[in-house]
Amino acid sequence: QRKHKIGVVGSGNWGTAIAKIIAENAASNSDIFEEKVEMWVFEENVEITKDSPHYSSSLQGTQKLTEVINHTNENVKYLPGIRLPANLHANPSLEDAVKDCTLLVFNLPHQFILKSCESIKGKILPYARGISCIKGVDVNEEGISLFSETIGRILGIYCGALSGANIANEVAKEKWSETTVAYDPPHMDSKAPTPQRSPSSSQVELVQFQHKDTSGQMSKTKLQALPSDYPPIDHVTLKALFHRPYFHVRVIHDVAGTSISGALKNVVALAAGWVEGMGWGDNAKAAVMRVGLLEMVRFGDTFFGATINQATFTEESAGVADLITSCSGGRNFRSAKHSVERNLPIEEIEKLELNGQSLQGTLTAHDVNKFLKKQGMEEQFPLFTAVYRILEGRMQVSEIPGYIER
Ligand code: NAD
Ligand code: 13P
Repeated sequence: QRKHKIGVVGSGNWGTAIAKIIAENAASNSDIFEEKVEMWVFEENVEITKDSPHYSSSLQGTQKLTEVINHTNENVKYLPGIRLPANLHANPSLEDAVKDCTLLVFNLPHQFILKSCESIKGKILPYARGISCIKGVDVNEEGISLFSETIGRILGIYCGALSGANIANEVAKEKWSETTVAYDPPHMDSKAPTPQRSPSSSQVELVQFQHKDTSGQMSKTKLQALPSDYPPIDHVTLKALFHRPYFHVRVIHDVAGTSISGALKNVVALAAGWVEGMGWGDNAKAAVMRVGLLEMVRFGDTFFGATINQATFTEESAGVADLITSCSGGRNFRSAKHSVERNLPIEEIEKLELNGQSLQGTLTAHDVNKFLKKQGMEEQFPLFTAVYRILEGRMQVSEIPGYIER
């Protein structure tokens, strides 16, 4: 039996934390996975100064990030202080990192995903499968897509999603958390919550999957069967890939609910951060979270109603749990809070405080508003609309209570 080769596309704060988990599991499940895990690093230079714990005669001054990661087993820029497994290889070539991989895990800030996928189109195994850890939505001329759908459409593969209450620095320190993996490829006919690996699911029929945008158009992609000498890529294999004693995985079928809640909670977290920055207290923050959750569910129902399961928002880590953690200590929350406290634009805080990490809530608020405007539905989503208008300087934070009450 052949083994799955895994490639992680992305190496930021969450990208590196997830790659660490995958490499740990690849090492301990060597019957299913190849031990060496490739992680694509968007190459950049880092300065190794005398203050660095890694400073030595052979490692000092300006260095390539990939070389530092491979030399020190630490992503000194995006996940400093965390020891990475030795079987995780930082690779500056995206094409080389994904070559021959049967499982691709996409974990980049969402603004970079289209270009990255376009650059490997036709260069991956045609029967590879993907998991998107990206929190965002793809708004384009046609409508709105989940990033799992967009990745699948560009690369001609099936792609599921991983999302949950997972502040990367906590997960990387192996503090206990839960996550949601959503995977529902067309060949899986069982809708049982925890499907068992069965001989029939090891053979993927040559089927087509449908990409649906809001105008109801379908695009079809031919999915190529995974050769039968590989272990099946199913819920059991995905659990083996992601579950750790400190990172508890529930695998479900609702890719849309998992992805949409992960994207939209970032918009709510901005509002929660502003409210916190105003010093309005926990009751006010809870009010913003209540309205935010309502709008998240309404958005899912309205635009992804055919495929979404409402229970994902209230029952899974990807839903309400992620909303709570993000509105407590996420980067979007913290940056929005600081922007009020320091009276600076949030983009300025992002540059000053995040050391190259990227806020997704600000971009998602714009994406969502562009889409809602096109649908003529800004009014039905007053909190999302207020967040957009505050970012645009067309509304004040102090106007939030009156605006969302309407
Ligand atoms: P990050 O915010 O740390 O972003 C930095 C990454 O972007 C670096 O790897 C950098 O090399 C890369 N980058 C910069 N310019 C690039 C370019 N032109 N092309 C390609 N890559 C480029 O990233 P992250 O925290 O790993 O976030 C990835 C996704 O995971 C996001 O959608 C985020 O919402 C989500 N997420 C993050 C966390 C978290 O706590 N950080 C937790 C859960 C989910
Ligand atoms: P931030 O990007 O706001 O830090 O959110 C992290 C996250 O998604 C936690 O689940």
